[in-house]
Amino acid sequence: MMVLSWLGEVLYPSKCILCGRVLGKQETDLCGICRVNAPFYPYSRVKPAPKGILNLRFLDSFTSVWYYEGDVRRSIHRFKFCRAAHLSAGYGRMVAMRLAESFPEGLDYLTWVPVSTLRRMSRGYDQSELLARAVGRELCFPPVRLLKKIRNTRPQFRQETPEARRANVAGAFAPFESIDLTDKRVVLLDDIYTTGATASECGRILRQMGAGEVHIVTIAAARRR
Ligand SMILES: [Zn+2]
Repeated sequence: MMVLSWLGEVLYPSKCILCGRVLGKQETDLCGICRVNAPFYPYSRVKPAPKGILNLRFLDSFTSVWYYEGDVRRSIHRFKFCRAAHLSAGYGRMVAMRLAESFPEGLDYLTWVPVSTLRRMSRGYDQSELLARAVGRELCFPPVRLLKKIRNTRPQFRQETPEARRANVAGAFAPFESIDLTDKRVVLLDDIYTTGATASECGRILRQMGAGEVHIVTIAAARRR
């Protein structure tokens, strides 16, 4: 077993999930340089502020591990578009740490923003579900599928205005199955938070299902200008 693990390290050395450098013996997930220089998101929980016509009243708080820029941006791009599903384990550990420090009072449900069936088939996986399952493993708190995407949407980053972003995701999600979330605290996981249009639309459905609180936690957040 030791020989196999040694061989595995030689053939497939562990790499930094952000920059791809080969990790030293004492390093996990992040290399020493990224551990210091990565653009960590500095707030544990903030109330999402509306911008333009976006209505974020369905979301109680937001937090993230990093800002979406530089190596973080390139890493998430590989995760979503280049079949780098293995990155979910490292992201899961980082998000789990952020979640544990942000929610000392605990939570009732851990769930994720799902992709459509079509997107899942073309990509081979739902990256946010992989993230949620990795976070669940770290926290010994299994995620629950609460939402489904009922129509394919265009990529949010191609939508130029808040109006277009909101219209793109309006009515795109529905309850996965009938479940009563009355007064429950739900944490919703996603890969990137930009304007909050997608998270807010998911929050709206979770509120309709009775959720008392909906919090969004992501791997990375766009810097607000
Ligand atoms: Zn690195």
